[in-house]
Amino acid sequence: MFDVVIVGAGFAGAVLAERFAQIDKKVLLIERRQHIAGNCYDEIDSNGILIHKYGPHLFHTDSVEVWKYLSKFTEWDVYHHKVKAMVDGQIVPIPFNFNTMQQVFPKSLAERLEVALLENYSYGSKVPILELKKSADKDLQFLADYVYEKIFLHYTTKQWGNPPDKIAGAVTARVPIFVGRDDRYFNDRFQALPRRGYTKLIENILSHKNIKLMLNTNFDEVAKLRGNEIYLFGQKFNGRLIYTGQLDELFKFKFGTLPYRSVEMKFETVNVEHYQESASVNYPNNYEFTRITEFKNIHPAQTNRTTILKEYPQNYVQGENEPYYPIFTDEARTAYEKYSSELKNFPQITAVGRLAEYKYYDMDDIVKRALEIFAELND
Ligand code: UDP
Repeated sequence: MFDVVIVGAGFAGAVLAERFAQIDKKVLLIERRQHIAGNCYDEIDSNGILIHKYGPHLFHTDSVEVWKYLSKFTEWDVYHHKVKAMVDGQIVPIPFNFNTMQQVFPKSLAERLEVALLENYSYGSKVPILELKKSADKDLQFLADYVYEKIFLHYTTKQWGNPPDKIAGAVTARVPIFVGRDDRYFNDRFQALPRRGYTKLIENILSHKNIKLMLNTNFDEVAKLRGNEIYLFGQKFNGRLIYTGQLDELFKFKFGTLPYRSVEMKFETVNVEHYQESASVNYPNNYEFTRITEFKNIHPAQTNRTTILKEYPQNYVQGENEPYYPIFTDEARTAYEKYSSELKNFPQITAVGRLAEYKYYDMDDIVKRALEIFAELND
């Protein structure tokens, strides 16, 4: 009856469902939540503001292929995300750049540090904090210690439950020091928001007669793994299973639970036109939350109230909260590899996505990955 079963209706599942549907395969897409779009899910709240229920999602990509693919399903509003951080009572631009230095240091020191950066790195380059910390230059060492302490150390410890040197360097390298004056959070070629939101975008991707969507449905309710075979509605299933959930859950936690990081999302209504000057303000130090996002600054709305979101990181506990991020420690990677080698016994299964591949995919990365997997599977 179905050629392909897909578990999870986030970006990975939706793109693969659409690709298979286009080549006339019958796709069953199951989703345990009551809604599509995974953690990109957005909705208009009681203040009339489009909010991102699972935290701020800002689309950006350097991939022309991804941009063109998604543009078949949405119009865009150009949007360049800007983030500030609260440092010693001042609101300063992040990623840390020349403008930030002008604000936090006396003029002569800021200029000296600017020169030191330019002597060592080209203009417009991005330097991860853990790399800058290795610098032999005395001025750059001073700068690295300052940025590490004020921006990365406490934020990262809050966010991950681990200091920066215990997690993969690629995590803090997502927000490198920027050698220049560009205050934007991303430098990608395309930066925009789907005009009617991510949920609508995913809805459009899924709108195909060959896709059957079942919400509120757990994998266990429709399918089972037995031996190295897959059973769908009690019958042996010979097609492809694309799985975007947690691998430990798929394999019944046989090697124990994999660590994921969760975040408690606390939305508040504030009775003012605008709460803060930029879309997100990070609070690396002194607060339990990591950042405050004001959604009106992302999706403009005509209201005299505003909706803000405070993010409180916490451990993920199965059944109690949502898994948002894999944890990028060596220990967690080793635990994940036990599960991923289990997949070798199931050639029908393709694991894809942030949870299933245990990777820090951005939205564009996962669309790219889904398109690549589709190409590989149809080679
Ligand atoms: N980070 C930090 N201070 C900041 C911003 C980011 O220490 O002000 C570190 C932190 O470890 C964070 C990582 O950089 O988890 C990646 O930040 P990003 O904003 O990309 O996180 P996301 O939006 O994916 O949660």
